[in-house]
Amino acid sequence: MHKGSCLCGVVEYEVNGPLGDIMYCHCSRCRKAGGAAFAAVSAVKTADFSIVKGQDALKTYRTDGGVERIFCGHCGSPLITKRETQPEVVRLRIGSLDTPAEKKVAMHIFVGSKADWDDIHDAAPQFAERP
Ligand SMILES: [Zn+2]
Ligand SMILES: [Zn+2]
Repeated sequence: MHKGSCLCGVVEYEVNGPLGDIMYCHCSRCRKAGGAAFAAVSAVKTADFSIVKGQDALKTYRTDGGVERIFCGHCGSPLITKRETQPEVVRLRIGSLDTPAEKKVAMHIFVGSKADWDDIHDAAPQFAERP
């Protein structure tokens, strides 16, 4: 079981199952959404993911591409994204975990659109878009 929360602590969640591969997404959308070089994400089964506190505080930004970016409405922490085409998984922003992930980054994705100031210094495989 993994647990996490947003910056202000209003929202808490649990993952009652394994985390998927950790991916660093360097796409321009994730950069904007997080204000950082990349988003650290892991796909988890929707059935394994539950909000245990602060459901009312969650806000959703729905993009044109059929993606819902769900974040804490109080502190703005990005927590999960959902894709209309893949309702069986949520993509967890693992920077919000409070428990150890117990795995390392598996790959870099959307490296083709990474920021010009973003240099990758590890040996994980890199993909121009999605593998
Ligand atoms: Zn919050
Ligand atoms: Zn991205």
